[in-house]
Amino acid sequence: MGRVYNFSAGPAVLPEEVLREAAEEMLDYRGCGMSVMEMSHRSKMFQQIIDEAEQDLRDLMQIPDNYKVLFLQGGASQQFAAVPMNLMKNGKAAYIITGQWAKKAFQEAKKYGEAVDVASSADKTFSYIPDCSDLPIPEDADYVYICQNNTIYGTVFKTLPNTKGKELVADVSSCFLSEPIDVTKYGVIYGGVQKNIGPAGVVIAIIREDLIPEEPPVKDTPTMLAWKTQADAGSLYNTPPCYGIYICGKVFKWIKKLGGLEAMKALNEKKAAILYDYLDQSKLFKGTVRKEDRSLMNVPFITGDADLDAKFVAEAKAAGFENLKGHRTVGGMRASIYNAMPIEGVEKLVAFMKKFEEENA
Ligand SMILES: *Cc1c(COP(=O)(O)O)cnc(C)c1O
Repeated sequence: MGRVYNFSAGPAVLPEEVLREAAEEMLDYRGCGMSVMEMSHRSKMFQQIIDEAEQDLRDLMQIPDNYKVLFLQGGASQQFAAVPMNLMKNGKAAYIITGQWAKKAFQEAKKYGEAVDVASSADKTFSYIPDCSDLPIPEDADYVYICQNNTIYGTVFKTLPNTKGKELVADVSSCFLSEPIDVTKYGVIYGGVQKNIGPAGVVIAIIREDLIPEEPPVKDTPTMLAWKTQADAGSLYNTPPCYGIYICGKVFKWIKKLGGLEAMKALNEKKAAILYDYLDQSKLFKGTVRKEDRSLMNVPFITGDADLDAKFVAEAKAAGFENLKGHRTVGGMRASIYNAMPIEGVEKLVAFMKKFEEENA
């Protein structure tokens, strides 16, 4: 059996150690004679799994006690609706449009109130992060929304926007646990786990308690989308994505063992530098993002020739580097180098790119 280097943007590579451990526990989880997949979500065994996962995440991110941690379903996309439904008391919010995911969230919010587009980088195909130091944020905005790391375009907010006192809501799907963040700067942090933490099917939402309304301000919000429903039930209002939560828990432990988020960040910076340094001196390949806004996680690049791009993707695949094709809306290539991508994967990719460059000079 051979494992490839998987540069997929999501679902994405997971730590091999975690997969092996899960495989070992597949038929008999710690002597209970069944798989976690077969276990009641009301069992003591599962309660222990979810409690431990939450505690490990709290430790890793230093989440203060006045924030709830929810394990939800519906993908990050469902939170595009849940965010306005739970937060739009004044019926208004400011959105910073830095890519497709932010745009989708913005469009969804418009269904439930007035969503105002206060900044955008659409003019240059989302290849940069706009200056967010003095935005026209409405006085009565309930929150300011960002997509912190733009999975498709490969940009990241290195400094958070000046929200002028409004709550900050961030979709961190593609940078979750890639480096330390100051949770207290946010009202809501959420993300689908399938990019950097676990299998598809789990969304983690970290929400300051006072932002969880007794009754969602948007009329007829479905019970399942009212954050309070899941907050009161400890994420067990209905059957949660049990197996996914179990894998997330293992990934949290894996990061802890590596030394936590500072160590994760150092490793991610090292990996990204290998790729960006090569791109910056290559005569064939070039990065598409403004240098100061480059993501540590998603690295888009092009040759400038669509046929050559296709040739590269095909030859890379044959050599064991999978999923390097850029997003269908952007073209070119994209290497997603999430937490679980080993450094050798990036080193070998760069060696392969060098060889390709020589052969196609
Ligand atoms: C992948 C992604 C999404 C969509 O996630 P789903 O779980 O498929 O709904 C949203 N936001 C960002 C930043 C993403 O990378």
